[in-house]
Amino acid sequence: AAQRLAGKTILVTGASAGIGKATALEFAKTSPSVNLILTARRVDALEKAKAEITALPGFTGSVTTYKLDVSNVDELALFETEVVGKHGLDVLVNNAGLVKGVEKVGEISQADIDVMYNTNVRGLIALSQIAVRHYKSKNGGRGDIVNLGSIAGREPYVGGSIYCSTKAAVRAFTDSLRRETIDTRIRIIEIDPGQVETEFSVVRFRGDVEAAKKVYEGCDPLTPEDIAEIAVFAVSRRENVVVADTLVFPSHQA
Ligand code: NDP
Repeated sequence: AAQRLAGKTILVTGASAGIGKATALEFAKTSPSVNLILTARRVDALEKAKAEITALPGFTGSVTTYKLDVSNVDELALFETEVVGKHGLDVLVNNAGLVKGVEKVGEISQADIDVMYNTNVRGLIALSQIAVRHYKSKNGGRGDIVNLGSIAGREPYVGGSIYCSTKAAVRAFTDSLRRETIDTRIRIIEIDPGQVETEFSVVRFRGDVEAAKKVYEGCDPLTPEDIAEIAVFAVSRRENVVVADTLVFPSHQA
């Protein structure tokens, strides 16, 4: 695995916390010469992640941090030329995503719908476009895209209509892109986690830490590292091996 990832340029969106941060760390631990591009809106948290990675014993790669709101089309355009154009790209981990609120359909605000769709769907699509363009024009049709879906995209729940539908959209988009790139060496990988303990629930409950904690009471959720290991496993297979679609949940969710 270390050899297959050696020297690769790996972009992780939403790398300031949770699954994204754990995935960046896991890539660096697995193959110390990787070049990581870490993006999110919180720059201070990105710098902390960078410090943790560069402090890993034996790390010889590089870490670039970049403030990128994946729902902002202007920032995305700049990112394509300034960052991907300059550093190149071999692996995109489309991880940035969120759920806002637990309201039923009649009560959901347009602002919350927009933030979920613009982040989870439009942002993921835009970054996939950037990656595919780069892989085709600069990498000889090689590269990986790892999209974070969710069990919610397969098993929708009451109070999650918007979030669940964004993740169903991720699934349809990802499957379609995989078929579209069948004549290339571009690998399209989807990982659909069940319950993972991160800041995800804090965001869902609009900062209410106590409400978020209750979600995980009496159960044994996955850790961000569990998902990170799967992402790194998928990307570090032999070039002709596509770990296309993985559903992973804690045993209590079966
Ligand atoms: P966290 O809330 O811990 O992390 C989410 C990350 O996304 C943060 O780094 C945040 O960074 C980033 N982010 C959110 N909005 C934007 C934006 N507009 N632009 C850029 N970055 C953004 O949640 P998780 O780690 O749990 O979630 C990661 C992914 O996994 C999401 O796609 C989520 O839907 C999915 N998932 C999570 C599950 C869970 O139970 N936790 C289950 C199934 C799927 P910042 O705020 O700094 O911008």
